[in-house]
Amino acid sequence: MKIYEGSCGCGAVNYSFSGEPVNSVFCYCKECQVRTGSDKWFGLWVQKENFTFTKGTPLTFTRPGDSGQAMHHQFCGACGTNLCVEVTVANIYSVAATTLIGNHLLSPKIAIYTASAPSWAVFPEGVPKFDILPPGLGD
Ligand SMILES: [Zn+2]
Ligand SMILES: [Zn+2]
Repeated sequence: MKIYEGSCGCGAVNYSFSGEPVNSVFCYCKECQVRTGSDKWFGLWVQKENFTFTKGTPLTFTRPGDSGQAMHHQFCGACGTNLCVEVTVANIYSVAATTLIGNHLLSPKIAIYTASAPSWAVFPEGVPKFDILPPGLGD
């Protein structure tokens, strides 16, 4: 089974997950813009049991998602890199694709919360866009 490994910018916190992500998602919600300093978050959705921190301990910032269930945002306390979000309602981690070590053939499959995107956002061609979430996902 494939193992993916990732790290924050300073190397204090490392993680790994096994298997292919169940989804690869560009999220344009306002919270992701604020956290990333960008128009979006590129999240790899990984089953919770397949994800583990292998070095260091991240800090956690928790806020409720649209479902009302907790979103645990985990980031390096030393360098501030956003590593992942534990989405408790879906039992997944949304892992920052930008923190993976090495080059991987990963591309977004869907774009969500595009109604919240800034006017200067650039959307990938051929990727389905959803104002909020696709039917059947989230709340
Ligand atoms: Zn760090
Ligand atoms: Zn988001």
